[in-house]
Amino acid sequence: MATETKKRTSKDYIDLENKHGAHNYHPLPVVLERGEGVHVWDVEGKRYYDFLSAYSAVNQGHCHPRIVGTLKEQAETLTLTSRAFYNDVLGPYEKYMTEYFGFDKVLPMNTGAEAVETAIKICRKWGYEKKGVDENKGQIVVFDQNFHGRTTTIISFSSDPDAKKNFGPYTHGFIKVTYNDVDSLREVFADNDNIVGVLVEPIQGEAGVMVPNDNFMSEIARLCKENNALFMADEIQTGIARTGSLLAVCGDCTCSGHCEKQKTYVQPDLLILGKALSGGAYPVSAVLANDPVMEVITPGTHGSTFGGNPLGAKVALTALEVVRDEKLAQNARKLGEIFRKRMEKLLSKTDLVCLVRGKGLLNAVVVNDHPSSSTAWNICVKLSENGLLAKPTHGNIIRFAPPLVMTEEQLHECCDIIEKTILEYN
Ligand SMILES: *Cc1c(COP(=O)(O)O)cnc(C)c1O
Repeated sequence: MATETKKRTSKDYIDLENKHGAHNYHPLPVVLERGEGVHVWDVEGKRYYDFLSAYSAVNQGHCHPRIVGTLKEQAETLTLTSRAFYNDVLGPYEKYMTEYFGFDKVLPMNTGAEAVETAIKICRKWGYEKKGVDENKGQIVVFDQNFHGRTTTIISFSSDPDAKKNFGPYTHGFIKVTYNDVDSLREVFADNDNIVGVLVEPIQGEAGVMVPNDNFMSEIARLCKENNALFMADEIQTGIARTGSLLAVCGDCTCSGHCEKQKTYVQPDLLILGKALSGGAYPVSAVLANDPVMEVITPGTHGSTFGGNPLGAKVALTALEVVRDEKLAQNARKLGEIFRKRMEKLLSKTDLVCLVRGKGLLNAVVVNDHPSSSTAWNICVKLSENGLLAKPTHGNIIRFAPPLVMTEEQLHECCDIIEKTILEYN
């Protein structure tokens, strides 16, 4: 006998998560069930503009038909072989990836944190085997307020007490210096021959979209070269067109990977990618490097059961094709300029928000209140009621990062929502 099942409400789903899931996140009270392009819908059928894009993992938009098509097709063909055998997708993907980003080799992994761990391991091994640093003495320079993921090693050099406290003992071998401060970086290099690399986010996303000076990346690259250390760029959030170029280290170039001039491009020794590498359809991450660095990795030294699986590889290949074919870097650059102009205009009309910053479609608005106040959170709740989803980061900063497939008209509509919400807030 068929019993009529009552549809669960948002509250039901929130209660279920609270009761049965670990409380390692504090989500906005919105329960989503469907996504398409720049939109998501909640279980009550309300439509929202997504201005988080899963922390920039869905740059290509939700459920992009080409990416989903590839996912379905490959899922019905072959999903996982492990690397104990070759498969017919990984090689073509690696060729495409390395040509796309201009490196000799790629090492495929799954999540962002794993890719960062991979880069750290490669860097250290390179330090001992190529640079000649004494074993276990290698040091890696990182920056204050960094975010590189959640593993034990990575949180060992976090500045965030929540991320770090009571998870020790920590991994040694990291030196922290101030972000965007070339002089302190020069100083640590001056009296230390054991530095094997520098790990940096070209824009610090989680810290509140901190955009460094234009020359910061090139100065890091130069200091690394001078001191025989590896420049590691964590582009997990900034990469794949988010900031208006294929990579944030590309500076002003919008070539989307097929560039002749690359005059503003600073090539990292190790490039770390994740998030939008798969368009949000499947966890895929990667580390790219040239042979003199990547050759320190030999059979047995590193790996992952799912790393380089045919499903992830095929999805990532398609996700990169979409970025190039739909000119998402160019669109992010154009819309980013419009967004910041609109926000500047808003700033002049209210004291509630005091600053807008960012690059391409990775932007943040700073709320004029204490970092510990709940103002930014409350604004985000109001924004969601008005049909736009954004999340505060570091207390009083709201990040605005919609999918890059947004149209100019949609962006203006979103700016209207933000403006109305802020001006009506009290
Ligand atoms: C999200 C992020 C990571 C971690 O990626 P996960 O897939 O969550 O492990 C690392 N670095 C940066 C800059 C990120 O934004």
